[in-house]
Amino acid sequence: MSDKKDYYEILEVSRTASKEEIKAAYRTLAKKFHPDLNKDNPKLAEQKFKEISEAYEVLIDDNKRAKYDQYGHAGVASDFGKEGFTWRDFSHVSDLEDIFGHDIFSDFFGRGSIFSDFFGTRKWGFEQPEQRIKRVQVEIMLEQAYRGISTEVAVPRMDVCADCGGTGAARGTTPKTCTYCKGKGEIQQEQLQGFGRIIKIGACHVCGGRGKIIDHPCPSCHGCGEVQKLDKISVKIPQGVDSGTTLRITADKAGGKLKEDIYVIISVQPHPVFHRQGSDIYLEKSITLIEAALGSKVEVPTLDGNALMKIPPGTQTDTLFRLRGSGMPLLKGHGYGDQYVRVMVRTPKDLTKRQRELLEEFEAIEMKK
Ligand SMILES: [Zn+2]
Ligand SMILES: [Zn+2]
Repeated sequence: MSDKKDYYEILEVSRTASKEEIKAAYRTLAKKFHPDLNKDNPKLAEQKFKEISEAYEVLIDDNKRAKYDQYGHAGVASDFGKEGFTWRDFSHVSDLEDIFGHDIFSDFFGRGSIFSDFFGTRKWGFEQPEQRIKRVQVEIMLEQAYRGISTEVAVPRMDVCADCGGTGAARGTTPKTCTYCKGKGEIQQEQLQGFGRIIKIGACHVCGGRGKIIDHPCPSCHGCGEVQKLDKISVKIPQGVDSGTTLRITADKAGGKLKEDIYVIISVQPHPVFHRQGSDIYLEKSITLIEAALGSKVEVPTLDGNALMKIPPGTQTDTLFRLRGSGMPLLKGHGYGDQYVRVMVRTPKDLTKRQRELLEEFEAIEMKK
């Protein structure tokens, strides 16, 4: 605080200066330090411009000036935020407009420069650059999820249209400057809010923020100036992935083919035979009445080939057997899930005469038991 310059010194006025003198001094210095008139050192000019505006903010206000006269910088510290004076604290916009005209704000805002913290300026209506990480969906088969695969993934990217060079206008035509926003692409609105005004800057609704009107759009890009390109990158999909598993592919791992990280979202196709539940696999297997009654060994398909499964004598239909470790690999950690086989007993049909006799005989014995 102690090394902060005296406000009267900054504005180069005496401690008894009248309001008119302070105003005149500010006007002179504002013109002197307008960043646009100090192209060789705009940073310093911005800093000076802010400094004189802070001094003006205090000295032009009777109340603040009285506090400053009595207590120095400490007297007005509570009028500003923690970091001291910012453009948000400046309440004499109209004085600046008197000096420079109304364009001062669009000039500054347009470049996103010194007034960016001014009264909570917000840009609205512009297409925001994609904040989220790009997502690319990859569909694989269950067998591929079981083994893990390396596959090529096409990552879409917008690129400048080669046919129009990005102008969006058909060859031989030129886009016209939007007359509504005069080519700036943005328009501004002022709103009173509390003690200050909010300057809102938004995309021009006539040209959609581009500043240009295209009468004859380029046929290749339909006037947007960009076309979609596909970057093919190789992605290693680990064993055990399931639908919804998301892999983050960092730009450096993609061999220079990506500008930014992407998410690859896995989708596993449903399988005609195997039904997956987490890391377990379910399968239905039909067996004959005889196999069920006498017991047998039947072959059942697994993701790793075929397995022999023991059917004990007297097996009922709808019994669930477990093949331990024949399910999906666990995505995190080691090991495998299980395969469950639901056994369905097939009732014999189209019996021959002899078969029928045998079954009737079987039934007769069963009744006598
Ligand atoms: Zn084009
Ligand atoms: Zn426009």
